[in-house]
Amino acid sequence: MVIVIGGGASGLGLAWDLLLRSIPVMVVEMGDIGSGTSGRFHGLLHSGGRYVVSDVQAARECWEENRILKRVAGAAIKATGGYFLSVDDEGDAYVQDWVKGAEAIGLPVKEVAVGQIRETVENLGPWVRRGFSVPDGVLEGFTLLHLLRLNIENLGGEILTHTTVTDIRHENGRVVGVEVMDKDGPRVIACDAVVNAAGPYAGEVARLFHDGIAMQLSRGTMLIFANRRVPYVINRLAPPGDGDIIVPHGETAILGTTDVLQEDPGSTRATREEAQYLMQLGQRLFADMDRWRVLRAFTGVRPLYQDGQEIRDSRYISRDFTVIDHGQRRGLVGAFSLVGGKWTTYRLMAEHMADAVAAYLKVKRSSRTAEVPLQTAVEMDLRPGPTICECERVSLGQLARWPCASLTEWRTRSWFAMGPCQGTMCGHRGALLAMAVQTPSTALRELSQLRHERERGWWPTTWGDNARQWALGQALRHQTLAEEAWSDE
Ligand SMILES: Cc1cc2nc3c(=O)[nH]c(=O)nc-3n(C[C@H](O)[C@H](O)[C@H](O)COP(=O)(O)OP(=O)(O)OC[C@H]3O[C@@H](n4cnc5c(N)ncnc54)[C@H](O)[C@@H]3O)c2cc1C
Repeated sequence: MVIVIGGGASGLGLAWDLLLRSIPVMVVEMGDIGSGTSGRFHGLLHSGGRYVVSDVQAARECWEENRILKRVAGAAIKATGGYFLSVDDEGDAYVQDWVKGAEAIGLPVKEVAVGQIRETVENLGPWVRRGFSVPDGVLEGFTLLHLLRLNIENLGGEILTHTTVTDIRHENGRVVGVEVMDKDGPRVIACDAVVNAAGPYAGEVARLFHDGIAMQLSRGTMLIFANRRVPYVINRLAPPGDGDIIVPHGETAILGTTDVLQEDPGSTRATREEAQYLMQLGQRLFADMDRWRVLRAFTGVRPLYQDGQEIRDSRYISRDFTVIDHGQRRGLVGAFSLVGGKWTTYRLMAEHMADAVAAYLKVKRSSRTAEVPLQTAVEMDLRPGPTICECERVSLGQLARWPCASLTEWRTRSWFAMGPCQGTMCGHRGALLAMAVQTPSTALRELSQLRHERERGWWPTTWGDNARQWALGQALRHQTLAEEAWSDE
């Protein structure tokens, strides 16, 4: 059996690939599914357009995977298309290089009159000069993670959440098991191979393999607006920079991102300064953005990897990925790491990693993930029942489809507590429902975690209507609902 450390895009993608080759797998995730970077990203299914000048290999992979994912993971993809727009201060030289780069990888780009784009995108800034259509799309991260989970479990794969890998067991330099810790304490799980798909924590996990790797972590903050705002993805046609992409996501739109090197894999608190900086940058594309209703800010940490090079600007670290066989370096035999890459290329990353693991286990079957579509859940005939979350229109019937592993899992499956009131009322209702299957103290602890997590992203964007919503939420919670004040200390 193979143990995969990490329940993000890389780990679940790998588990699915291995299972299709009939290799038994267990995924071990220390939080909830998607609690790492895969639940904290921009939501862009790249066409590759962003990288055609500076990172050609990553651009090619994105374009290839963009087409494959539309086929095999269609339930989690919205093929909206997108535009690259140049504004006054970008030189024509870059635009020409970009068009040539797109042609070189066979990416279909087409110049469209700015007047025509303005007919479908409201309030585009007056500085926009040229526009090119690209086959960008929207990748619904939580939907795809839950889809992968369903398909993995249907093939007999096991997924342990809230379980941390703390050490590796080995005999004669060869992996024989992992030590894990969960709410019931420590235990050992035997395995034949182990794969580190721990995202930003990959450097720490690799140390357990007796073979450190130098991750180049980069922090990116994004803003979510309360309305969809754009029908397709809008990118600024310029060398990759900050605040230059806006992605429609369900009823919302996400603007991002920043790109700053940081060492701590777990530092994901967005700041007010970052939120205001993004608002300023966004106004180069949309002059009226300061009047858009913002919901919250959030931050993810890119698990980038560029071995042995000193890096000053994380934008110049390749978005390509690397498969590491630690047994072939100086580490344990049967230990592997999968690092770098993008959500858009998770399937390809998993295929390469699974090739290496299958070769180690002497299994000759090759990858089938580009052909086998992910099955979606059979819709249950449940009457919707009373509304639990008014903002996102989530009913009791929808929540009842999934056993409540945690309030966070309910949130990422159903979208409850994601709307303008950020769970002020439905947080309580959710906790009350959770009490049917959990002890009251567990449900209340999860409610407090939900409050904590929502407030972290809400507070940096409390201006205008969002500040009024915040004040109303505080009053309802602490006076009407008599909640105790939450403290960050
Ligand atoms: C700001 C930002 C914007 C982005 N936007 C895009 C985009 O628009 N499109 C795109 O294609 N890509 C985008 N990306 C990149 C993409 O999100 C990441 O490449 C991808 O999500 C990484 O997935 P992962 O599975 O490798 O890591 P993660 O999702 O972080 O998964 C690793 C998991 O391992 C778990 N873990 C760690 N240590 C242990 C342990 N010891 N035991 C058990 N579990 C452990 C963690 O809890 C975590 O859940 C963006 C990234 C950032 C930061």
